[in-house]
Amino acid sequence: MYQAKQHGRSSYRWYSQELNEEASYRVELRNELQNAIDHEQLSVYYQPLVDARSGRIRNVEALARWQHPTQGLISPADFIPLAEETGQINALGEWILKKACRDAVHLHAQGFRQCSVSVNVSPIQLRKDGFINTVADALRASGLPSECLELEVVESVLLMDTDQVISTLHAIRELGVHIAIDDFGTGFSSLSYIKLLPANKIKIDRAFVKDVIENRSDAAITQGVISMAHHLGLEVVAEGVETEAHAAFLRKNQCDLLQGFAFARPMPFDELVTFMTKRASDNKGELGSEVSIQQKPTLLLLDDEPNILKALTRVLKRDGYRILSTTSIKEAFSLLATNDVQVIVSDQRMPEMSGTEFLSEVKAIYPGTVRIVLSGYTDLKSVTDAINEGAIYKFLTKPWDDVQIREHIQQAFLYFRAAQE
Ligand code: C2E
Ligand code: CA
Ligand code: CA
Repeated sequence: MYQAKQHGRSSYRWYSQELNEEASYRVELRNELQNAIDHEQLSVYYQPLVDARSGRIRNVEALARWQHPTQGLISPADFIPLAEETGQINALGEWILKKACRDAVHLHAQGFRQCSVSVNVSPIQLRKDGFINTVADALRASGLPSECLELEVVESVLLMDTDQVISTLHAIRELGVHIAIDDFGTGFSSLSYIKLLPANKIKIDRAFVKDVIENRSDAAITQGVISMAHHLGLEVVAEGVETEAHAAFLRKNQCDLLQGFAFARPMPFDELVTFMTKRASDNKGELGSEVSIQQKPTLLLLDDEPNILKALTRVLKRDGYRILSTTSIKEAFSLLATNDVQVIVSDQRMPEMSGTEFLSEVKAIYPGTVRIVLSGYTDLKSVTDAINEGAIYKFLTKPWDDVQIREHIQQAFLYFRAAQE
């Protein structure tokens, strides 16, 4: 009946055995969750957020974990929505908040006084009367300074009871607690509400970060959000940073904080302390320092045939370039993210996409690069399109003349410098 109503009135749904099973599974899970809350079978893991410039850990995010006695680890993505449906989220959320504040005080006692803790807050909690007192109590009971606590609120919280939510968030800010807008970009909320939110930070959702180095739309959205946030005086966190290429791209685009498997997975508190201690003693913080070694003019060569790459490299090496080469488009995007490339030479005919298509994508993400196609075959349509769009600077043909190709590449670097000036 509920399903039928949810799909609009005057509708029907057939009863099925699965519905019954689903319902009884949920009732059971709900009881077990209560049990877990009562007997503290739940735990809190922590994932570091790293300063993009200094590499220092500035903050840790508290993430709930449920070690089920028979089913193993149940993901918060499964049990949090259940707890929201049943209202158990209020007790659960309060427990996590208190635990996170206490753990943060322990972290400070270990010498990490600059580190703050972020706690996810469900919209249900925010709308409950007395939530502000819950936060104040957690701070008082633990002794954590209020500016070391940050609450993460999903953007879609604005879709309901906007006025009440905004006034609650203002009251939280008045306590000195910080606020981050979580999963930014996925909530369809109106930008005119965003400016009313008393936030300190925006967290760009993992969905945009995943393909940010190779997808022009994701790159544009990410760059746009960073720029908007900075103009609004907010800091930006990128979530789901899984590779050094992601990190390098985001750093180049002025993202403030990075979070993801590239740095650390969520871990129990004891492991976190060990991890942070080791990192501090290794002084491994300087992840962002490889930028300065890239002074030499840098050329990227892409061709699915390794022999061509070898031959080209041999010819062009004489001119003193730093030459990066690869047979894969995916790796080419990675190299572009991690290096300052000025000139790109791409084969036209490759298995994944054509050279002109590749260079059109590159143009969208790195408009300053000088892009050249090298091809043995000419499909006039794609070439003229790419040239007219401004995606390519020159079209060269295989087999090439050594002297000529060296001249073309030299001119490309001159062209790059002139365009910069
Ligand atoms: P979230 O707030 O967006 O948290 C980030 C999620 O991304 C975490 O999943 C984290 O483990 C995962 N993650 C971090 N780095 C990477 C990465 O590089 N790659 C990938 N693929 N994933 C990464 P987790 O811990 O499973 O939590 C899922 C969601 O459950 C959270 O998403 C949050 O919405 C919710 N949640 C977790 N703990 C709590 C809580 O205490 N209270 C509330 N209300 N919600 C919570
Ligand atoms: Ca979060
Ligand atoms: Ca997220």
